[in-house]
Amino acid sequence: MSSKVKDIKSNRPFIISGPCSAESREQTLATCRALADTGRVNMLRAGAWKPRTMPDTFEGAGRIALEWLREARLETGLDYGVEVANGRHVELALQYGARMVWIGARTTISPFAVQEVADALKGIDGVSLLIKNPLVPDISLWEGALQRFISAGIPARNIALVHRGFALFNHGRYRNSPMWHIVLEMRRRNPHFALLCDPSHIAGRRELLGEVSQRAADLLFDGLMIESHICPDEALSDSMQQITPSDLPQLLDSVHWRSPTGNDAGFGDRMDKLRSEIDAIDENVFSLLSRRMGIADEIGGMKREVGITILQQERWSAIVERFRRLSPSLGLSEEFVMRILDAIHEESIEHQNSVMNDNR
Ligand code: PEP
Ligand code: MN
Repeated sequence: MSSKVKDIKSNRPFIISGPCSAESREQTLATCRALADTGRVNMLRAGAWKPRTMPDTFEGAGRIALEWLREARLETGLDYGVEVANGRHVELALQYGARMVWIGARTTISPFAVQEVADALKGIDGVSLLIKNPLVPDISLWEGALQRFISAGIPARNIALVHRGFALFNHGRYRNSPMWHIVLEMRRRNPHFALLCDPSHIAGRRELLGEVSQRAADLLFDGLMIESHICPDEALSDSMQQITPSDLPQLLDSVHWRSPTGNDAGFGDRMDKLRSEIDAIDENVFSLLSRRMGIADEIGGMKREVGITILQQERWSAIVERFRRLSPSLGLSEEFVMRILDAIHEESIEHQNSVMNDNR
């Protein structure tokens, strides 16, 4: 049997949509039918078991949800996927004809649970597996999960990675913070796997789905998993982030899926020229940083002789203030400037520390 994940890369953008949870037969069928009618969806999704952070919230309808989904599949001709968190879930999902299963962020974080799901999928082909990023921004948990499925013999072509944002203490604009650099590093290390974005769980609010989806498209993701509900305001889970199936086409139309390569004449040459400029600048930036750290070593030596602390609070505060003021005229966000400055300061302290506390 062919696998849908195998098709993700060649069907960019691959769109998975469906309710956060399958709540009732009527809600599941109405949502899936309306999604199929848009003609824009490659696969349906719904949660039958919902690992919720807080007790006393809707934890899914369980096995019976699979009956509704099986019916939706027969009626619409679209395959469906469900979230699984243990071996029993996998067994039931396969029994009810799910062609895709995924492990959620709360499962990816848990090696025993991941191993149990991987064992249950052993030797099974023709079923796609999505691995959501773990709740915390720890790339090795994500890679560890991937490794467990590969070791269980799941073919790489059946596996896709999903970015759904990370749970941080300070979320800022989004419900779960996207950390694109972590995802891009994950893809750099594991280039053979399809990469999807789940803008619903990142955004947490339907108004922000477009901008998150656009970012994913610009970073060469292969598709999106978007939650939709026939009546979002009445949804038993994640109601603020779900959209109606009839709003889905408009959302999808608002996202530009630019091609990774340009075919206009001269594009390649211009791009090569600009990239070589960037490479040269990056080399300069790092050789300047290296010189800067050489000076930090000398300062560390002087502080050691005189017997004063590494951190000189006033000097550090003055540097921070100076660059805070400079950031607008540099055309750089204050947040970026502060992040770079922090990293430089940290490295500088490390250098001084090794000079001062070197016991030779
Ligand atoms: C979901 O997709 O419904 C879900 C619970 O996702 P996550 O694991 O990303 O929170
Ligand atoms: Mn959800």
